[in-house]
Amino acid sequence: MDAYTFKKNLLAELYKPYTNLANCPVNTTGCTQLVFGEGTPNAKIMFIGEAPGKDEDELGRPFVGRSGKLLTSCLEALGIPRADVFITNVVKCRPPDNRKPLPSEVAFYKPILLHEIKIIRPRVICTLGASALEALTAQPFSMTKIRGRSLLFDTITLIPTLHPAYVLRNPAAEKDFKHDLAKVVHTAYDT
Ligand code: URA
Repeated sequence: MDAYTFKKNLLAELYKPYTNLANCPVNTTGCTQLVFGEGTPNAKIMFIGEAPGKDEDELGRPFVGRSGKLLTSCLEALGIPRADVFITNVVKCRPPDNRKPLPSEVAFYKPILLHEIKIIRPRVICTLGASALEALTAQPFSMTKIRGRSLLFDTITLIPTLHPAYVLRNPAAEKDFKHDLAKVVHTAYDT
């Protein structure tokens, strides 16, 4: 069995026990399904967001709404098709009214995220927004200071950047976002 198929099977095994929404600890009002990671298991880059929103909940796929479209178009501009990366969220279900996930909800889903990282073993992890970075590192950060820096997560390069939803609300931040994504791509592909 090749590495792609092996990892794909591991991901399917990982997600299987969680597929029943009734077992989810989050208040699932307004949530129709769980949304797991998407992309190639051989990805060099893994993006991690906070939690699915309305569009993601409807389609059962991460980052398919306006934020996802921005991320996808910025990646394509750098020559990276969306299908070549892996995209996931810390929390796998949509919190009510898109509120920030509670620490207990992050704690419930974090083992799945850690397992996804272990299976994919990307060259670079790129966290999108403060929530994902804090979920991984368990430390509060100033996003303006930390974004675009190269950190380490368990020997994997971790480059935090802004959440695309923030960039959509603050168009002046798009330059920084694109700059960080370019660094992510160069770090993953030039080494
Ligand atoms: N925002 C996120 O953090 N994740 C998604 O999947 C979509 C929007």
